[in-house]
Amino acid sequence: YFVSFEGGDGVGKSTHVRLLGRWLGEVTGREVVTTREPGGTALGAQLRQAVLHGEDMDPRAEALLYAADRAHHVATVVRPALERGAVVVTDRYLDSSVAYQSGGRELSEDEVEGLSLWATEGLLPDVTVLLDLDPEVAARRLSGAPDRLERAGSDFHERTRDVFLRRAAADPGRWLIVDASPSIDDIQAQIRVDLAARLDL
Ligand code: C5P
Repeated sequence: YFVSFEGGDGVGKSTHVRLLGRWLGEVTGREVVTTREPGGTALGAQLRQAVLHGEDMDPRAEALLYAADRAHHVATVVRPALERGAVVVTDRYLDSSVAYQSGGRELSEDEVEGLSLWATEGLLPDVTVLLDLDPEVAARRLSGAPDRLERAGSDFHERTRDVFLRRAAADPGRWLIVDASPSIDDIQAQIRVDLAARLDL
C-alpha cells in the first residue's frame, strides 16, 4: 500500500504518519517505510534547504525544485519499497504541490499536476489522508522559527486549504478527509478506522 498524508502546516501530519506507520506494521505484518517530502532523501534534504531556507525564488523555480525532490524520492525510496512489498506512508506528496504551487503560488493547477505526474511516472497513492484544520488554529500549534512558507500570509494558507478540500471532494475513492481539531488520540483512532475500512485491513 502507498498512503500519503496531506494538509496545511501545523495540522499534525508528521505525528500521525509516525503513529499510523507503527500500527500498519502491526496489522499487516509488513515492512513499513515512513518518509516525507520535501527532504525524504539526501538530495531531497539539500533541495528542502534551498527551497525553504534559501533565497526568494520565482514560483516556477520553486515548483521545479519540489518536482525534482519528488522524482528522486519516488525513484529511490517509494517505488523500490513498494516493489519489495513494503507499505509506504509519506508526509506530503503531489497534492501538496498542487495545493501550494497552484493554490498558494497561483500557477496553473493542471500544469503543476502534470509536472508531478511526469516526475513520478504517474504514481498515485492508494489512499490520501487529508488532515483538515483552520489555518489560524494550525498556525498557533507551530513552534520555533517559521520557514519561508510559514511566514506567507493567511490568504495563501486559506487558498491552499481550499485546493486540498476541493481535490478531496472530487476524488473520494482516493481521499479520506479527517477533522484535525480533536486530540491526537482521537484523530489517530479515526484515521485507523477509516483506513481499515478502505484497505480491508
Ligand atoms: O510539512 P513540512 O514541514 O515538511 O513542509 C515544509 C514546508 O514546505 C511547508 O511550509 C509547506 O508549506 C511547504 N511546501 C510547499 N510546497 C510543497 C510542499 C511543501 O510549499 N509541494
